[in-house]
Amino acid sequence: MKIGIIGAGISGLTAGRELVRAGHDVVVFEKSNAPGGRIATRRSNTPTVYTFDHGSPYLSGSSSEFTVFINELKENGIVREWTDSVSYYKDGKILPEIPGRDRETLYIAPEGMNRIGKYMARWLDFHFSEKVGGLTHIGGSRIKKSPWMINSSTINVFEADAVIIATPAIQAYGLVSTAQDELDLRKMISVLDEIPYNSTYSFMAGYGKRDLPDWSLVSCQHPVISWLSNESRKKVNMDELAIVAHTTHEFTREHIEDESPEATDREIKKGLGEVLGSWASRPEWSQSHLWRYKRPRKSLGMPFLESENDLAPLAVIGDYFQGTTLEAAYLSGLRLGKHWAEKLT
Ligand SMILES: Cc1cc2nc3c(=O)[nH]c(=O)nc-3n(C[C@H](O)[C@H](O)[C@H](O)COP(=O)(O)OP(=O)(O)OC[C@H]3O[C@@H](n4cnc5c(N)ncnc54)[C@H](O)[C@@H]3O)c2cc1C
Repeated sequence: MKIGIIGAGISGLTAGRELVRAGHDVVVFEKSNAPGGRIATRRSNTPTVYTFDHGSPYLSGSSSEFTVFINELKENGIVREWTDSVSYYKDGKILPEIPGRDRETLYIAPEGMNRIGKYMARWLDFHFSEKVGGLTHIGGSRIKKSPWMINSSTINVFEADAVIIATPAIQAYGLVSTAQDELDLRKMISVLDEIPYNSTYSFMAGYGKRDLPDWSLVSCQHPVISWLSNESRKKVNMDELAIVAHTTHEFTREHIEDESPEATDREIKKGLGEVLGSWASRPEWSQSHLWRYKRPRKSLGMPFLESENDLAPLAVIGDYFQGTTLEAAYLSGLRLGKHWAEKLT
């Protein structure tokens, strides 16, 4: 079968790999120019090249399936253990541990977390820079052989026998809505409408050569800064300091429509100075990236959603199904991939 997947994040890549292994012909449509979605890496264009994981800073998980995946990435040299301790900022002090947190091993990709998406991409065919605008169900008329047409926001149109939507819930809602006139998808749409997301700015800051802080990650009780990741501690022999700061949802919502990104950046730098000391408010290089959909605030408690029309298979997967984490996104893709491998083969 020809299966179109919309979204090259970890859920879409995982479902795709399972379906290719079952003998299907899979094509992934991705609006950006690389695989990985919210597992992302950026490099500065400065003489000192800083590398920042400005999406999820690490991988962690407890299920047996995700542990198998982490081990696969380890064996292929993509990830390694990073740390099992997360520091905690409150009232002007950084404590070495979050009080009461159970220790858990966190894994990182030393060459950049985007290596994970690139590794998973080797099994799949892609259309990058191809934003899907909608779906048309053409099964009834049978003028064409396949029941689905995937309509790109440019003029391109692709036929598919089955479609998987692997985007944040709000974008999935928009895509499923375009096909609702032809199929009864109201139940699916009403479920997707219920998932709110936290937003964040990822502020990437490079400080040149200096003593590196001894923490890897800090969870912050601060009105602007929610997390800090010490990117320099992901590399061997790195003596230039690179930090990613995530802003709180409240700060981000307040500034999301700001006309002046410079003013928002100034407030983030001020926040960094408050948490780490005044030096931190004066990076040598900085850039921010807005993630409107960082993490879902609610989970649906099921592995995926599927339409009831078996002649026009349509499914939705992502991190909001069985949890609200990267592991949940992987498991959602894996479960649908295995289910469809059996059902459609
Ligand atoms: C800053 C940040 C920090 C995070 N920290 C953690 C953490 O500490 N722990 C944790 O477990 N998780 C964390 N996450 C969340 C984790 O990264 C996600 O849960 C996971 O990567 C989601 O994978 P996904 O496949 O569901 O979606 P995504 O990775 O969002 O993939 C969806 C893809 O669909 C594409 N797309 C969307 N619409 C269209 C369209 N119309 N046409 C074509 N393509 C489209 C997008 O470009 C994207 O590539 C963090 C995320 C961010 C951004």
